[in-house]
Amino acid sequence: MTLLSQDQLRSLLLGLDGQSYKAYKSLQGAYDCGDFTLYLDYIQGDPFAAPSQARVWIPQSVAQFPTDLYRNSSRAVALADYLTRQFYQATRGPSPRRGSGKSGLIEIVRPSQAVLGRSAAQVSEAGVELRFTVGLPAFGRRIVGRQAAELLGEDVPDIVLATACYGSLSASEIERHVTVIEDGDWLRSHLETLGLVAFVADGAILPRRSGVDERPLLEAATPFQSPESLRVMVDLPNGGRITGMGIPQGITLIVGGGYHGKSTLLKALEMGIYNHIPGDGREYVVADPSAFKVRAEDGRSVTGVDISPFINHLPQGKSTCAFSTSNASGSTSQAANIMEALEVGAKVLLVDEDTSATNFMIRDRRMQALIAKDREPITPFVDKVRQLWGDHGVSTVLVMGGSGDYFDMADTVIALDSYVPQDVTAQAQAIAAKYRTDRATEGGLHFGRLTPRRIRPQGIDPSQGKRDVKLKVRSTDEIRFGTEEIDLSAVEQLVEPGQARAIAVAIVHAQRHYLDGQKPLAGVLDAVLADLKTQGLDCLDDRRRGDLVYFRALELAAALNRLRTLQVVI
Ligand code: ADP
Ligand code: MG
Repeated sequence: MTLLSQDQLRSLLLGLDGQSYKAYKSLQGAYDCGDFTLYLDYIQGDPFAAPSQARVWIPQSVAQFPTDLYRNSSRAVALADYLTRQFYQATRGPSPRRGSGKSGLIEIVRPSQAVLGRSAAQVSEAGVELRFTVGLPAFGRRIVGRQAAELLGEDVPDIVLATACYGSLSASEIERHVTVIEDGDWLRSHLETLGLVAFVADGAILPRRSGVDERPLLEAATPFQSPESLRVMVDLPNGGRITGMGIPQGITLIVGGGYHGKSTLLKALEMGIYNHIPGDGREYVVADPSAFKVRAEDGRSVTGVDISPFINHLPQGKSTCAFSTSNASGSTSQAANIMEALEVGAKVLLVDEDTSATNFMIRDRRMQALIAKDREPITPFVDKVRQLWGDHGVSTVLVMGGSGDYFDMADTVIALDSYVPQDVTAQAQAIAAKYRTDRATEGGLHFGRLTPRRIRPQGIDPSQGKRDVKLKVRSTDEIRFGTEEIDLSAVEQLVEPGQARAIAVAIVHAQRHYLDGQKPLAGVLDAVLADLKTQGLDCLDDRRRGDLVYFRALELAAALNRLRTLQVVI
């Protein structure tokens, strides 16, 4: 197939001038722009509608990235991430006005502070691919050919050549990006052999500018400094020797006065499942890849989850071995969140008192005296946390400033004092011995059953009206799935809307290929994740979208579990 040249594209565009917007549809196809190939994969029907999808392919003969920069998957993801950021920066700031609506806009997905695999950029031995959107120019609903020719013939090539060619970028900055990310992955993958669930480097900056600004708090921040007894030394493949606080496996409490930085530390651990860009402050703050934040989430729906380790003998004899509700309470939602995370392989639970149900976390001696065990359905987490570790090897890191009842359960106690952590394990144990809680333990010898669920494909319907699949995602908080809304606002480890978008299409993929009512949920998710690993994000959606971002099985499960129409095989 011979492609149209850039000049031919230009004449084509000038020829469309003044025609109705729909005539742009004829542009769909590929164009040889000399240094790169431009693909127009989807053409918008209207200047105010979602913009058109474009893609460029730059062969390595032009892009010239040294193979070293993408020789393993950590580096390839990091390099692609770097290029996405360069492209994103280049499209910020004033763009030439090229007409009404989205006319003239060039956009790539907005990267967060996390370095993630995204469909927006890919680098291989053969070349670089970038995916972005363009707003094809119009005045009113009439095509402006000259503006379109400038957009596709000048603006796009300018950005592409400035951001996707090694020669036009800072070699040292790229090197830094790639090596820092490789070190982060290395560190995370070595936590287990070190007997750790997380590592927080000395000097790390944990606080963020605000609840809505993920960038580091700079001047005012106290850099992290490990207590001597928890300090671990590691030799990174690229970055040399670093030290930091190792959080051991088992049960760890983070205590300290209000406003002393407890939740900030936990949040950094939550985000430690991702690598962060150089300068973020959390480059070497890493957590076990399966670490999962669990919290209370009253109002959520729960479908067929065995929450019996925590909750039994509900009023009216409601079963808790396959517990369903369309409106969970604080405690039942937190129990379900934990059991669902265990179902798909979480080995570390992260819990913050700020977002927990009190009656799920503790039940003290006085309350035990007043409300007999057979009148209280809840076995509090404090009575199960050790069994969870003993029976299933699941560690817990828990922020708890309000109750000392957990001292008896903890292997490690870290106190934050004006943001500075101290190892107070020995003191906490001495206090536990001196002031007994005199609680009756309620948890029994064992944690209890983990019951795998099988999901029925019938309960999942992405259609709406005439459309077989209608999905919409605007933020990390919600997926519109057909006529349903999946509330993800309590799924706290999603950082980019693209992850929610990919999860939405992954649910459809899972339903079409793997959900047969037989396979346990964990097996279904493994199959989806295996497809992603071998075929990339495009296996979820064949439309060559540039707006999908990698996610974990844990978050995919979390979304599925919050679908209110979900059905399980009982
Ligand atoms: P806690 O959970 O102990 O009540 P937070 O973690 O919510 O405390 O932190 C309280 C405030 O202190 C937040 O505004 C946070 O951004 C800030 N903060 C946390 N850690 C640091 C630090 N290392 N340096 C400066 N400010 C910090
Ligand atoms: Mg807090």
